[in-house]
Amino acid sequence: VYKRQDLNISQIKQLIEEIGFENFYKDYFEWIKKEDEKIRGFLFFTEKLAFELIENLKNKPKNLPLYGIPIAVKDNILIKNERCTAGSKILENYIASYDATVIKKLKEAGAIIVGKTNMDEFAMGSSTEYSAYFPTLNPFDETKVPGGSSGGSAAVVGAGLVPIALGSDTGGSIRQPASFCGVYGLKPTYGVVSRYGLIAMASSLDQIGPIAKNLDDLILLFEVIKGKDEKDSTSVEFPIEKTKKVQIKSIGLPKEFFQDADTKIVNLILEKIKESKLKIKEISLKYVKYGIHCYYLLMPAEVSANLARYDGIKYGMRVNEEEKLWEIYEKTRDKYLGKEVKRRIILGTFVLSHGYYEAYYLKAQKLRRAIFEDFQEAFKEVDLIISPTSPTLPFKLGEKIEDPVQMYLSDIYTVPVNLAGLPALNIPIGFINNLPVGMQVIGNIFDEYKIFEFAKAIQQ
Ligand code: GLN
Repeated sequence: VYKRQDLNISQIKQLIEEIGFENFYKDYFEWIKKEDEKIRGFLFFTEKLAFELIENLKNKPKNLPLYGIPIAVKDNILIKNERCTAGSKILENYIASYDATVIKKLKEAGAIIVGKTNMDEFAMGSSTEYSAYFPTLNPFDETKVPGGSSGGSAAVVGAGLVPIALGSDTGGSIRQPASFCGVYGLKPTYGVVSRYGLIAMASSLDQIGPIAKNLDDLILLFEVIKGKDEKDSTSVEFPIEKTKKVQIKSIGLPKEFFQDADTKIVNLILEKIKESKLKIKEISLKYVKYGIHCYYLLMPAEVSANLARYDGIKYGMRVNEEEKLWEIYEKTRDKYLGKEVKRRIILGTFVLSHGYYEAYYLKAQKLRRAIFEDFQEAFKEVDLIISPTSPTLPFKLGEKIEDPVQMYLSDIYTVPVNLAGLPALNIPIGFINNLPVGMQVIGNIFDEYKIFEFAKAIQQ
């Protein structure tokens, strides 16, 4: 028996080369299922699919980027003929009829999809406690949350069960759980990764992105999934060659991003960036501090529109006994949608309604533009912007679940990045009280490789 835990992609490739797929995957599922019992990061395993994918690899070239590499996928990304629940009871029995573009790309790259990971219902939340099934636990301390909404993906990577996973990020759902689980997590520039086959939360903010324990693995996965897709009209071709030399001259620390964070986290970040010896500049982002207000108006507006399709007729579960169409809609949604999801649909419907639209939705749209411009001004002076990923360390299970505003405040440093469409990476930088701490690096549009360069410098 060899130790699979914590192997990175190149080590797994080497091991497969030595012992063959048969031996590598023979007792894999037994092992991963047993390990996962401690954290419950997976909603379900895709064992049959995994063995089909292994079988297919036999006629494929060995130099595929993810040849034979196990990967976990957040359960809001469609895989043909597999269940896709989005963490909700309303999609408990839903089987996807097609592959998301990212799944198609994973298959072409030779990846072995081993399971679908737990998440807050429809990606709304910061702890996975809003999953309609069960909460996932933090791999470093099982009394703490793993973050969310991609908490399952971050936890299984943090626990070393898979080297890489996919998550989605609408307001921080890749970066915050990556921070809580001690791994890398990237929210790409809006449009760089196709959203085709991603169950929509707030379409103007959603992006799929990679999660990995190892930086090179994260970059590799990013390269596999990016690219323009004719099935997603908001997608774009990534315009920068990865071989292009990037230079980082200065980094900016926005004072607004350090004010309300745990001082131990702030100090650790300052220590790390001093070691990097880059020129550090204090900057101010005056509108960015309204990010959370802006996000919690625009996001629910889009949520209320996107979730109208779960009505008991078009998709998923239905209460059967009722006769009238309207009653089917009402009772299905009442019975199968969770409390947090309902709260956001109600709020979104309100901010879009006649008489309130100008006061809330329209104003928030203007604020969104101001936030974007705030960042653009800052990037005239500095190459990258640094902040804590989360204002706090991983919190206790149950600690914030009855207080939505406290839960929303977990996202203060991550949501402005989605509002501005920028790329940002969580870099794991160490531990405080045995809990992982993450630093967020924000770049301008298409500056992913600049972010990676910085992450390499910090790693060294
Ligand atoms: N935690 C944030 C929210 O609840 C972000 C969610 C996400 O990025 N999907 O909206």
